Amino acid sequence: MTRVLFLYNTATRSKERFEPLNDPVGIYCCGPTVYNCAHIGNLRTYIFEDVLKRTLLALGYRVKHVVNITDVGHLTSDQDTGEDKMEKGARREGKSVWDIAARFTKLFKEDIAALNIVSADLWPRATDHIDRMIDLIARLEKLGYTYRTSDGIYFDTARFPDYVKFAALDPENLRAGERVDMGEKRSVTDFALWKFSPTTEKRQMEWESPWGIGFPGWHIECSAMSIAYLPQPVDIHCGGADHIRVHHTNEIAQSEAATGKQFVRYWLHGEFLTLDKGKMAKSGGSFVTLETVREKGIAPLAYRMFCFSAHYRTPLSFSWEGLDAASQSLANLRRTIAQLCGARDALTQEVADDAVADALDAVYAAVCDDLNMPRALAALWEVVRDGSKSAALRVRCAKRADEIFGLDLMAANSETVSVVRETGGSIVRFESSVEIPGAVADRIARLIEERREARKGRDFARADDIRRKLADDGIEVKDLPDGTTTVTVPVSVCG
Ligand code: AMP
Ligand code: ZN
Repeated sequence: MTRVLFLYNTATRSKERFEPLNDPVGIYCCGPTVYNCAHIGNLRTYIFEDVLKRTLLALGYRVKHVVNITDVGHLTSDQDTGEDKMEKGARREGKSVWDIAARFTKLFKEDIAALNIVSADLWPRATDHIDRMIDLIARLEKLGYTYRTSDGIYFDTARFPDYVKFAALDPENLRAGERVDMGEKRSVTDFALWKFSPTTEKRQMEWESPWGIGFPGWHIECSAMSIAYLPQPVDIHCGGADHIRVHHTNEIAQSEAATGKQFVRYWLHGEFLTLDKGKMAKSGGSFVTLETVREKGIAPLAYRMFCFSAHYRTPLSFSWEGLDAASQSLANLRRTIAQLCGARDALTQEVADDAVADALDAVYAAVCDDLNMPRALAALWEVVRDGSKSAALRVRCAKRADEIFGLDLMAANSETVSVVRETGGSIVRFESSVEIPGAVADRIARLIEERREARKGRDFARADDIRRKLADDGIEVKDLPDGTTTVTVPVSVCG
């Protein structure tokens, strides 16, 4: 079945039919500035981008997904003033900039994995692409788009008349902004391409360039890395909504000025996760990380579920009560699916692919309508609860939908039910995600005991035979060093 995907494009301020320009479809996502742990607000943006990528994959597109690591040049102020966040972070931690970059990149990737976010194909680091940035700036210089001040090389936005278009910037407001101190900049919207190292202090990260020792501006990093790895125009470029006004506006200006081509076809932006009605910001000090969520005994995937309670283009207000409700709702959904799995033949009965696609029609329709996950989730609940459909069909639908939801809906870990049996004086512990009927536990316990006896009598062929018989039913047997045995029982055996 061919489905049409509609995405809201910030550039045109409308939902547009997605038509790929490249195969694989190129997606560039602005990555983390690795001077601190990611907070769950940042992670909300990566979850929405993951849903986009999973949707494209589910629709049969090939995807090349690039997420950069910003490990230099992101200043504390969007006005090209203030400190480099990385250098500041290094001082806070009493470590080298390279150490903190490595540490927070690793932690970021662990968060990504814990949230079932499919890893990017490429994770380019800004500091590995300084030469490409210098080349791009030199190109802009040659074309007359730059000027020099005492602290760096700047992009002259007056030379790019479309500058105000993308973010619908109001020229009147901009002129008012010019009354604030803009140093030697010619216009408030001009931005640094290359900053000179300060003469008063030694930076840990700095490079030689045709203009003097220094470091790149934050915006040129994303232009250089997307041009390096993806054909232009890039199909899709994503980020948080805060990037529209400055970062992405600047990326467009410098990329299009340098290449003379459209930079990006579809721009997608996720709205903010807010905390106590304010925005959650790494620089603000008070922010929640995935580690804080874990410390409260809540699984990371409950946070993914929480994010699906609002459309990605709607601000979402974080509360622990809301997260707790999402956690219970996820447990409910998994339990309902596990019960379906327990029905006779639910896992073995053949189900035609078309039947699954038909049953999931409303789920796909919601996802294809600009990734409407709250509606998709409600539609999935309807399928799972629909008694007129066979358990086998509903289980297959949940499995298929989870390719997009990424909630481990089939995980047998919703709640582990344990049953313990003593056989021949030793302990056998059974584990499953659904209740294990006594007769089933007794039957398996007898086989385990028989196997133990066989091993004692050195009849290994018989012992292996029993293990194989159990494995055929999906029953996993583990002998622990303390003499006890753990048996993991799949729901199919418990029905
Ligand atoms: P950063 O590490 O600050 O460069 O940000 C990484 C990503 O998180 C960017 O796409 C930001 O736009 C996004 N972001 C930052 N704060 C929030 C927030 N409170 N809610 C959602 N996304 C955010
Ligand atoms: Zn970027």
